[in-house]
Amino acid sequence: MTDFLSTGTLPDEYRDLALTVREFARQVVAPVAAKHDAEHSFPYAVVAGMAEMGLFGLPFPEEYGGMGGDYFALCLALEELGKVDQSVAITLEAGVSLGAMPIYRFGNDKQKQEWLPQLTSGRALAGFGLTEPGAGSDAGGTRTTAVLDGDDWIINGSKQFITNSGTDITRLVTVTAVTGEAGGRKEISTILVPAGTPGFVAEPAYNKVGWNASDTHPLSFSDVRVPQENLLGERGRGYANFLRILDEGRIAIAALAVGAAQGCVDESVRYAHERDAFGQAIGRNQAIAFKIARMEARAHAARAAYYDAAALMLAGKPFKKQAAIAKLVASEAAMDNARDATQVFGGYGFMNEYAVARHYRDSKILEIGEGTTEVQLMLIGRELGL
Ligand SMILES: Cc1cc2nc3c(=O)[nH]c(=O)nc-3n(C[C@H](O)[C@H](O)[C@H](O)COP(=O)(O)OP(=O)(O)OC[C@H]3O[C@@H](n4cnc5c(N)ncnc54)[C@H](O)[C@@H]3O)c2cc1C
Repeated sequence: MTDFLSTGTLPDEYRDLALTVREFARQVVAPVAAKHDAEHSFPYAVVAGMAEMGLFGLPFPEEYGGMGGDYFALCLALEELGKVDQSVAITLEAGVSLGAMPIYRFGNDKQKQEWLPQLTSGRALAGFGLTEPGAGSDAGGTRTTAVLDGDDWIINGSKQFITNSGTDITRLVTVTAVTGEAGGRKEISTILVPAGTPGFVAEPAYNKVGWNASDTHPLSFSDVRVPQENLLGERGRGYANFLRILDEGRIAIAALAVGAAQGCVDESVRYAHERDAFGQAIGRNQAIAFKIARMEARAHAARAAYYDAAALMLAGKPFKKQAAIAKLVASEAAMDNARDATQVFGGYGFMNEYAVARHYRDSKILEIGEGTTEVQLMLIGRELGL
């Protein structure tokens, strides 16, 4: 089984973290993955285990209850979790990079002190409310409004497909809302909306094709009143700030997708040895061996792409194009590998209790969430001046 990009090239602290999360994924996550998938239930005990390991605090400083690590450390953890259960991995990804990170990047001291210790400990989750029924890829088309009334914002509108927004431990959602008009353009700001605020409702969860153990809801806001100080970051910078969060998030999603792609390889190698047909292991057929070899090549190339984007980001260099490339190739690798792994497994690959069947259903969303494949191509094209 392939370990890392090149075995032994990672510094010890990263390698140790990845191996610890790998063990957790095998011992704690994998045994209950099929059950939560079948029951569409949120894996509270697994999330508590991840919280205990400090995974929700990985890239945050210790003063906010974090582990003092970095974004690459988060990516390594996501890759290991993504190998066995994408629902668990996206719960962590969304909790950290979409939930806590906007507050860390754009919050004032008071907001950070109030929210980050809860979020980095994993005792609480926050949602990232950007997408609306009429505004997905074109997220600037936001229709939700926030109007100042005295010292309060009054929020009206709706959000769609919001991860981690309706669990028992969800404590807030950050939402983009139109707060006015400037220069003939919508002024979009970001506002913190605590769970339980009157008028803010997480509607019943979606019935999804995959990521069944991940929590996803439509949200509605009807005259929701929150204090003016809940504005996150500068007024009018909400959309731009969220786009920055999505640039980073693409590296994390790419890491999760590489995990899925690699998980499909690992399962296929094992099965190709075990399963006999026509008097020999199916892996002895070059058609099967080549298929799995190509899967390994896809996972490896996608891993290189996300390592590169993460290295640029950590070095403080521009990384928008590399993050989009990583998200593009990793999500395609996951989808292609899931299809091929299912083929290697034959009829068993179509049975929901098998990990490859889950990857087959789960991987499609990787080509859609946090910017579709087409959006990544638009971003790469723009970076090329097209
Ligand atoms: C399970 C799940 C979890 C999610 N979690 C969150 C979350 O936590 N927070 C959040 O804010 N959002 C979340 N989303 C929303 C997700 O980011 C959007 O679904 C995604 O950005 C696409 O938007 P859309 O669904 O409106 O599709 P659309 O934007 O309507 O796109 C439909 C199709 O048209 C294509 N398209 C659109 N414009 C162009 C163009 N200019 N050129 C070429 N093709 C184009 C798209 O690529 C796509 O193929 C989640 C979605 C799902 C399914």
